[in-house]
Amino acid sequence: MEQWAATNLHDATLKDHSVQAVDDACRQLVRRLGEAGWFKYAVGGKSYGGSADAIDTRAVCLIRETLAWHSGLADFVFAMQGLGSGAISLFGSHEQKAKYLPRVAEGAAIAAFAISEPEAGSDVAALQCRAVKKGDEYGITGVKTWISNGGIADFYVVFARTSDVPGAKGISAFVVNANAAGLTIAERIDVMAPHPLARLEFKDCRVPPCQRLGEEGQGFKVAMATLDIFRSSVAAAALGFARRAMEEALRRSSSRKMFGHALADFQLTQAKLAKMATDIDCAALLTYRAAWLKDQGCPVTVEAAMAKMTATETAQQVIDAAIQIFGALGVVTDEPVEKLYREIRPLRIYEGATEVQQLIIARGIIKAFQESERPHG
Ligand SMILES: Cc1cc2nc3c(=O)[nH]c(=O)nc-3n(C[C@H](O)[C@H](O)[C@H](O)COP(=O)(O)OP(=O)(O)OC[C@H]3O[C@@H](n4cnc5c(N)ncnc54)[C@H](O)[C@@H]3O)c2cc1C
Repeated sequence: MEQWAATNLHDATLKDHSVQAVDDACRQLVRRLGEAGWFKYAVGGKSYGGSADAIDTRAVCLIRETLAWHSGLADFVFAMQGLGSGAISLFGSHEQKAKYLPRVAEGAAIAAFAISEPEAGSDVAALQCRAVKKGDEYGITGVKTWISNGGIADFYVVFARTSDVPGAKGISAFVVNANAAGLTIAERIDVMAPHPLARLEFKDCRVPPCQRLGEEGQGFKVAMATLDIFRSSVAAAALGFARRAMEEALRRSSSRKMFGHALADFQLTQAKLAKMATDIDCAALLTYRAAWLKDQGCPVTVEAAMAKMTATETAQQVIDAAIQIFGALGVVTDEPVEKLYREIRPLRIYEGATEVQQLIIARGIIKAFQESERPHG
């Protein structure tokens, strides 16, 4: 992967941030990553184009770490093929897998994951989008926002309420083709690290029951199981960004002369570099522990949350320290460390903000403690 990325992604900096340029760059990356065979690791099932029968979390993490080092956009493209099709790999019927996964693995179809709504982000179980049975179809009505690949995706995995049961229990998951009648891209959203992002509107968008993933009411479980795999990979992407910033900081501080020395000769700089390197290694250990546990079939919710929280927060601090070492050069638009500063920021928010990870960790350890204290009958 490193060799492929070094050869193929050296020209990946996108200067034009228009919707058209970003869409074109993503489509091109989908094609190149697909042709090179990397999306095989983003889907599960050898007979559906996957590299193995189950998604190999450690492979996904290693690929994301490497791609992120070279290009945030390439990492984004790879991650979304996995996140957008993950629910199909995990819960799809044979027909659903055969219909979508081989095309995702080849880069012939672009995937997206649509759960967030204007009033349901961190509190995802508050989502209001509804899927109402009408004859032998569902009619989906509602709004989804912040949807990555919105506008270029060929299909969306959409989470909607199929019953009046409140909270997590009344939610179901559906695969909705991008050309389904009643689905429109209502708005394209510009963000600091440009990638395709959109608000989607569903107006009685008709979907047959064969497009439902799993049973009615299983949608929350489908979403959480998908995130359990890909949360560790967000940590891995953060590691890639942090390691790149570390390397840039080492290079710059070794070559920049001031007061008759190289910047790296000063102990204040060395303290910074030592902390950056140590924090990166701590984050790496948590990341690959979570990925390894997942691949052993162990419950991983707490460990993945620890990894995501630590790696993304660490990467932000490491990149900030790298910018400090660069001085004014660090804030010049599209300098590698400036780009990393913009690339890392959303990772502390999406797939569960840091505060949400803190709650997941705390709930998990409190529950485990209380269960261990309960008298054995
Ligand atoms: C670049 C980007 C890409 C995204 N891609 C997708 C996608 O492909 N599909 C999709 O469905 N969604 C996507 N999202 C949406 C993302 O998952 C949500 O932004 C995220 O869940 C947070 O929801 P919110 O933005 O509504 O913030 P809110 O829910 O309004 O939260 C705001 C802040 O409140 C704090 N907070 C949250 N809970 C608590 C608490 N209990 N106690 C104290 N503080 C708290 C956190 O700091 C949080 O950042 C994307 C977001 C971004 C930025």
